[in-house]
Amino acid sequence: MLIINARRLTGQPVALRTVGERIADVGADLVAVPGETVIDARGGTLIPGLWDHHIHLRATVAAAASIRVGPPQVHTPEGFRAALAAATPQPDGWIRAVGYHNSVAGELNRYALDAVVAHVPLRIQHRSGAMWLVNSAGLAVLGQPDHPTGQLFRQDAQVAAATTGHATDFGPLSARLSKYGVTGVTEATPNLAAADLDSLDDAVGGGQIRQRVLVMSADSGRDHPHLVFGPVKRILDDDTLDLDALTEWIAAVHHRGTAVALHCVTVVQLVVATTALRTVGVHTGDRIEHAAVVPQSMISDLVELGITVVTQPNFVAERGDEYLQDVPASEHEELWRLRSLQCAGVPVAGSTDAPFGDLDPWAAIRAARDRRTASGSEISVSEQVSDAAAVTLFLGGPGAPGRSRELTTGSAADLCLLSEPPEVVLRELDGELVAATVIGGQLMDR
Ligand SMILES: [Zn+2]
Repeated sequence: MLIINARRLTGQPVALRTVGERIADVGADLVAVPGETVIDARGGTLIPGLWDHHIHLRATVAAAASIRVGPPQVHTPEGFRAALAAATPQPDGWIRAVGYHNSVAGELNRYALDAVVAHVPLRIQHRSGAMWLVNSAGLAVLGQPDHPTGQLFRQDAQVAAATTGHATDFGPLSARLSKYGVTGVTEATPNLAAADLDSLDDAVGGGQIRQRVLVMSADSGRDHPHLVFGPVKRILDDDTLDLDALTEWIAAVHHRGTAVALHCVTVVQLVVATTALRTVGVHTGDRIEHAAVVPQSMISDLVELGITVVTQPNFVAERGDEYLQDVPASEHEELWRLRSLQCAGVPVAGSTDAPFGDLDPWAAIRAARDRRTASGSEISVSEQVSDAAAVTLFLGGPGAPGRSRELTTGSAADLCLLSEPPEVVLRELDGELVAATVIGGQLMDR
């Protein structure tokens, strides 16, 4: 395949040839060889395909079939009750709802849920992804009829074991990702069971998932070339932080030659994570997921460790209005830092954390540039980055998320072609401009 008359994000003219899975030639102007498929970009912009560096594939598929009971769709107790009253159970017999936040109807327990849905098993995922709220009918199905509250914290595996049974159809999700120009994703769900890994392996091997997938699990011998294994993820929770245990765990993972990815959304989690990493030493590929709150004094710790931060700029847009209410103004600059980290020399990569954030990477890219909430308020504009830097957050590769891939001969032919020239692309930062997505030299259907 030959792409002609394109421009790089920098504005320079570029033509590019792919042969098989790779970029075979890059120049300002290349001439087609007989029989070659030619795509005329007509002045559009050619960039490496986007990589979403932190996403939960199966949960995103499930969320698409769930009802939303949190902001921005649902804000009030009345809206919450109405949404659940209108819900119909899924094939597994459950009503599944997602996106709940306590601002909607307060802290919920099984009895509050029974008052809304009495006889059908109901499970509601808290927006944080850390908790399922289950009614009494659901607790009975889960084999926990005597659970005092129905608030199941970090019990995804147990809930999944009792509720799945249907093979996940990843095809529509993969197609949506292709529409956004996404050619690779990092599956960030920790502790995936063998069945989950098998289903990902089948989906990638069978072509349901067209994107390359980096899984945050130890390599388990599955060997499709588009499915690779990377840093092993660990979630830190404030209530169960244990510096010694974490230090030992990191050392053991490193000892096997594998990097770690540490989920840190609070300051204390970041302190414990960086302390443990300093003790053990950083392995190539180690990363901090989220770094939702970084005090000024800790930026130098991240620099010294040389560790990559994988952030979600979209949360500034999606949750910013709540931050403005709930977080003291003096701490706003610590939220979802971007520019200050990059300026200090911390490699930073972007991601959506779908389904907890919106799947559209371009919305996250715009949020990185604009730092505006849904209602239009700004949050710590000093953390804004340029339009080009915002795009670059999604151009890293699986092994080095914070370093942009380049259109160079020999690299994987994973490409995103946009219909407009770079100045328009950078102004709009809109996924609607994606005209073609190429993965491993294959043009994706539109
Ligand atoms: Zn996540």
